[in-house]
Amino acid sequence: MAAQLIENGKVNPGVLKLELFCRGIKIDESCHVEKDARKISRLRAGLGSGLEVRLDDNIHANVPVTESFVENTPFAIKRHDDATYHVYKDDKHITQVELPPAPGFYDKKTQSGKIMSRVAQMQGTYLGIYATDVCSFWTKYKGNNCKFCSTGLNLGPLEEEEKKVEDVIDTVLAARRDENISFVHFNAGYFDGEGAERLMPYAKAVIEETGLLVGVQATPAKDFKIYDEMKAMGVNHLSFCYEFHSPEAFAEICPGKEKYITQERYFDAIKYSANLFGKGFVSGEIIAGLEPIEWTHKAIDWITENKAFPTVCVFRPIPGTDYGDKPSPEPEPLKEVFAHMYEACMKHGIPVGLAPNLKISIVIQPDEGRYFLENRNKYKLTELKLAAMKVAVKTLFNQRVKKAEARRAAK
Ligand code: SF4
Repeated sequence: MAAQLIENGKVNPGVLKLELFCRGIKIDESCHVEKDARKISRLRAGLGSGLEVRLDDNIHANVPVTESFVENTPFAIKRHDDATYHVYKDDKHITQVELPPAPGFYDKKTQSGKIMSRVAQMQGTYLGIYATDVCSFWTKYKGNNCKFCSTGLNLGPLEEEEKKVEDVIDTVLAARRDENISFVHFNAGYFDGEGAERLMPYAKAVIEETGLLVGVQATPAKDFKIYDEMKAMGVNHLSFCYEFHSPEAFAEICPGKEKYITQERYFDAIKYSANLFGKGFVSGEIIAGLEPIEWTHKAIDWITENKAFPTVCVFRPIPGTDYGDKPSPEPEPLKEVFAHMYEACMKHGIPVGLAPNLKISIVIQPDEGRYFLENRNKYKLTELKLAAMKVAVKTLFNQRVKKAEARRAAK
């Protein structure tokens, strides 16, 4: 039987995260979210448009609250008199949750006077930075944007368009101090195959100045040699959002990617970089809930067979986007997808969940797929090995951060 929201009287936090992604949550008037929670804003990462909550087992979720489908959600969040927050489903108490407060650094300014929340945003426990200007599918090649994407809608009052390396470093250091972040994720849209190149100076500076783990998400580069340079520089993670495995869905929903990049080029970039970086350092990002579910399963198989790990986003119809009026997906068929995601990683020996203190709120992480297994002890031995590897990774990470601190102190 598929995993259930309530099992033996306890909430399954993986299933709750999925149901909240698909249904959203109503904020009861008892709540003081402006004071107690992170600000709800639609930023360029698009998906991070909801209320950040922490569920059992330290699982973070960014829960839709403003999308039109939330109108019919069975979920509500309420604040009790003792100032704790609780999730209700159909008016029945489900579980207590926490609201991570607004990060202290958000209102601080960089040395050049930029407000830090306009430079980078917390998504779960990591810092996400859309460092470049707007993706050219919204500008130079206007009209070719991906239909679920809100990137071109989000500038102005919320976010700086152009981010200087110095502003990014100031913000990353503040986020490390205030939020103990371990991972910084850079993201760029399409710039004629030069997105990765544009992110290089930021990635380099963060690695040198802070030693934190760095991930780079960009469209496939013109010349794959740049991935060799990134590896040599110390970049830890590359991700490629090819979104849909079905060629028809890819062409229909991502017209710019179809016309100027091609799905084949994504596959080549994933294969090249996963061979270069090794298992578990490269991800293929896909969206579940728009193409037929069999294709999502095929995507997971293809990605893991090619040494990468799948990052599976649950489609969120963001208001104002081309697909803003589409329904949000049903959670039931997606339970199988996330169980399959976990099984495929285990079967192909893809290490998951190793990065220290990395909790992602906008997707169900590969290691969170275990909450969807029928038999949760099926991979016990492998999970024990992964736990031991995690300790070793943390030691290496701490050494890298200490070295960077020493370099900074010596300046
Ligand atoms: S490539 Fe597509 S998803 Fe990415 S920023 Fe551009 S339009 Fe949005």
